[in-house]
Amino acid sequence: MKLIPIPAFDDNYIWMLHDGRRALVVDPGDADPVLAALQQGGLALEAILVTHHHGDHTGGVKVLRQGTGAQVYGPALERMPEPLQRLGDGDVIWPLGLRFEVRLVPGHTAGHIAYVGQLPGQDPVLFCGDTLFSAGCGRLFEGTPAQMLASLTSLAALPDATRVCCAHEYTLGSLRFACAVEPDNAELRAYQARAKALRDQHLPTLPSTIGLEKAVNPFLRTHLPAVALAVQQRAPNTLDPVGVFAALRTWKDQF
Ligand SMILES: [Zn+2]
Ligand SMILES: [Zn+2]
Repeated sequence: MKLIPIPAFDDNYIWMLHDGRRALVVDPGDADPVLAALQQGGLALEAILVTHHHGDHTGGVKVLRQGTGAQVYGPALERMPEPLQRLGDGDVIWPLGLRFEVRLVPGHTAGHIAYVGQLPGQDPVLFCGDTLFSAGCGRLFEGTPAQMLASLTSLAALPDATRVCCAHEYTLGSLRFACAVEPDNAELRAYQARAKALRDQHLPTLPSTIGLEKAVNPFLRTHLPAVALAVQQRAPNTLDPVGVFAALRTWKDQF
C-alpha cells in the first residue's frame, strides 16, 4: 500500500492510499487534484473517507462519487453530501480490504471522526482531519476544551509508530508556538530544524507519528509540568488539566 498526500488549496492534504490498482482518499475538498492523481496512476477510486463537514474536506466528494462510483463514508452526526455510509465511534469498515476503526473525536467540530487503519506489514495510519496537527491541534469551532482534550488523549494512546496523516500543512506555524511554550525541549528544536529543511524543499512534513507528537506537541503534553507551568505564567489560575488545555488553546489562538 502506498500512502500519498495530494496537495490541495493553500495548505490542505488529501490523503490517498492505493495498491497500484485501487485507491481510497480522505477529505477530498477538491476533486481535480484527486482525478489527476487517479489518472496518472491508472487507479480506480473505491472509497472516500470524510472526517468532518467543513467545505475544504467535502467540496470534491460529489464529483468524485458521481465520476467513479466510490463508496462514501462520513460522520454520523454532521451535515454531509448524501448518499454516504454514516459512521460512529467504534464502527469498523473495510475499504480496499483494509480494516479501519472509527473514533469519535469532537472538538474542532461536534461530530468529527478519525479513522485508524491497519495495513498488513506496515505501521498503522491515522486519518485525523483537523483534530490533531503536527505540533498542534484544530481550533475549537463547535466543541469544548474538555471534549478536545479527551479526543487528543484517545489518539495519543495509539501505538507510537502510527503514522499521523493530518489534513493541513500547518507544521512550521505550530512549531513556532510549541517552541514558545517549551523553549527547552531539545526534541522539539530538532524536529523544527528537520521540518524547516523539508519545507525549504517544498516537501510535506507529514505524516508524523504518534511517538513524535507525544514528544513535541504541547497539546498532547498539558499533563507535563513544563507545559502546565508555561501556561500558568500567563493564566495564573489554571490548575486542572482541562483549564491548562483551554488556556493553551487560547494562547495559540492569540499567538
Ligand atoms: Zn475543519
Ligand atoms: Zn480543514
